[in-house]
Amino acid sequence: MALHKLKDFHTPGSLDEALDLLGKNSEALVLAGGTFLHGLEARGLMSDVEVLVDIRKTASTVDVKDTALEIGATTTLARLLEIPQVADAPWAAALPDALSYPPVQIRNTATIGGCIAAACPFFDVPTALIALDAVAIVRGAGGERKLSLPDLFGGLFANTLEPGELITKVCIPRVRGKAGSAFLKLETNANDLAIVNAAARVVVDDSGTCTEVRVALGGGVAEFALRSPSAEKILLGSKLDAATLHAAGEAIVADIAPMSDHRASAEYRSVVAQVIVRRALERAVARLA
Ligand SMILES: Cc1cc2nc3c(=O)[nH]c(=O)nc-3n(C[C@H](O)[C@H](O)[C@H](O)COP(=O)(O)OP(=O)(O)OC[C@H]3O[C@@H](n4cnc5c(N)ncnc54)[C@H](O)[C@@H]3O)c2cc1C
Repeated sequence: MALHKLKDFHTPGSLDEALDLLGKNSEALVLAGGTFLHGLEARGLMSDVEVLVDIRKTASTVDVKDTALEIGATTTLARLLEIPQVADAPWAAALPDALSYPPVQIRNTATIGGCIAAACPFFDVPTALIALDAVAIVRGAGGERKLSLPDLFGGLFANTLEPGELITKVCIPRVRGKAGSAFLKLETNANDLAIVNAAARVVVDDSGTCTEVRVALGGGVAEFALRSPSAEKILLGSKLDAATLHAAGEAIVADIAPMSDHRASAEYRSVVAQVIVRRALERAVARLA
């Protein structure tokens, strides 16, 4: 690993201690699960790192509140899957859908904070979190602030955290009423990152009319995972029938700027994204409860 300038490795026992260390070292890098460090190195983002601050010993809890799930940043993906309110709730089902894709070794180590801080457009969990309206709680010398996930993503592999800032929690607001959500991924093989992924969450009233909807996409459809306002506009107020879901799938092309890479061309991504979105919507509607 290209860490030529590395001078120190710290394992703070608290977030305050971690923030103090980050504030004192402009070339410090946070280490959580460590599963994406090879990704940073491959992109030349490790060469100036002088200090590693391993935050795995800072306590992370999962608080299941009436209004929200509050997940400490160093909570592993595996731990999240064990929480009944995450695993069994139809409104949150997009999350366990997405959490089940990374291999078990990665799930046991990777953290929810690292998963979003990496700002990698090919990860699955961020797409699901966007559809669930998740918010990152961020702390730094300037105090605490909240960032929606689209606002946390600044560009390809770039987040919008200020130097010295840490993600301390991820909060997912609870949804009331009849709701369902789902996540779906298209990949070249079972161990690969997404060609395209999509997540949807729908809420309906007693007459079956859609009163709230989120459609999110990732996997190289843009520099980072995003929502599709065009698809959401078609779905809101509809009865979520087959023709409407189809039209919403087609509408996402207005909101994406797909990339071409070794996994797929931009043209292919654009076509399959429409299908994956429609299928994620169908699955979310089937889960309405
Ligand atoms: C073999 C393999 C298969 C994978 N398959 C999948 C898959 O199928 N689906 C999928 O979605 N993902 C997959 N991944 C990606 C995996 O989800 C990410 O690597 C992981 O979520 C990153 O989390 P981490 O805790 O290991 O982060 P780290 O590697 O520790 O850190 C990643 C980045 O986030 C920063 N960071 C970490 N925590 C914080 C924090 N609290 N505040 C601020 N910055 C922070 C670090 O400084 C670093 O820049 C795979 C990875 C591997 C290696």
